[in-house]
Amino acid sequence: SSSSIAIIGAGISGLACANVLKKRGIACEIFEKSRGPGGRLASRRLGEGTVDLGAQYFTAHDERFCHEVTAWRSAGVVKAWPGRLGICQGETIHYPEAPPLRYCGAPRMSALTRHLAQDMNVRVGCRIESLERQVNGWWLIDDKRQRQGPFSAVVISVPTPQAVPLVAPHDPALARTSEAVVQHPTWTAYAVFDKPLDDSLVAGGDWQGLFVEEGPLDLVARNSTKPGREPRESLTLLATHAWTQACLEEKPSRVADWLYQAFAARFTTRALPEPLVLSAHRWRYAKPSVSTSKSSGEDTAQDFHLTDTGLGLCGDAWRGARVEDAWLSGHHLGLALAS
Ligand code: FAD
Repeated sequence: SSSSIAIIGAGISGLACANVLKKRGIACEIFEKSRGPGGRLASRRLGEGTVDLGAQYFTAHDERFCHEVTAWRSAGVVKAWPGRLGICQGETIHYPEAPPLRYCGAPRMSALTRHLAQDMNVRVGCRIESLERQVNGWWLIDDKRQRQGPFSAVVISVPTPQAVPLVAPHDPALARTSEAVVQHPTWTAYAVFDKPLDDSLVAGGDWQGLFVEEGPLDLVARNSTKPGREPRESLTLLATHAWTQACLEEKPSRVADWLYQAFAARFTTRALPEPLVLSAHRWRYAKPSVSTSKSSGEDTAQDFHLTDTGLGLCGDAWRGARVEDAWLSGHHLGLALAS
């Protein structure tokens, strides 16, 4: 048998788990279906600039996570985003007096997960399709029918709908628990411009982001105002879950047009210049249907699963729909596995 641990998924939760194991001298191997690590901390590099497609920023409340953020800031992969983010209330934009400190990966969101994956054993482009439990441990079967193993434990750090088929044959009750956490979808449109938009924006362009939370638009971010970005203006337009659900199977180009028109109609005072790039990315599993209360309040509830047979589950689904929650879940599972 083996003492090595397999981690499925190289998002922030899987990487947080791997980091604990590595520090405790426990070997682990990460399997990621995409071409690189990051998961929902994703950025797209275009010739014209870089845009964050998933999380636009993150906050830090938990003491342990704050400590980690300090280390990431020292390493230069995370920087504060002092941007003014307004809250839309009807026709007016309201600015909270004491907004939380917001952070971004620098020079793009995915710089953080790249950093965390740096000295890790990550196999990218490898989708795990099923698990087998043999006398000598766990085996992973990938999309090319190749078997990886044996491992003493398997961590599944993927969105719940993707975890269910892996878990179901081994632990039907845990599969049902996973199924109960719905992951809502989000369309993210992005537009890159040659010139700054300040003059064309309502309220004099005096905002770097807006919580719209109504109609098609959920959040607008002036992506290029984040730390370390290219100077070219770029906008990210995140759609609400309800609107996304209704347009889930539409073409990205149509979705991008609709979100862009909705933005222009509501938040600009004159015609915008033609964007150099206008497109959209669909997150089928963007945010879990769980409250984020565990980060602020009492921290007693367990935010991961670990069975006697060495099957572990971590990720935002088990704690809250935020980067901090996902990191904490993976970190806590790592500690449980190491003890
Ligand atoms: P993921 O990042 O989804 O990682 C899972 C990984 O597993 C992925 O890389 C995936 O490719 C891989 N994978 C899946 N199935 C398999 C398989 N079978 N085999 C191998 N690999 C597999 N949070 C905030 O704090 N602030 C925000 O402003 C914010 N905004 C957001 C906006 C959007 C549009 C989205 C999508 C999310 C946002 N979030 C935000 C939430 C935050 O991004 C997530 O909570 C967090 O990144 C989740 O991390 P994770 O490790 O749990 O999952």
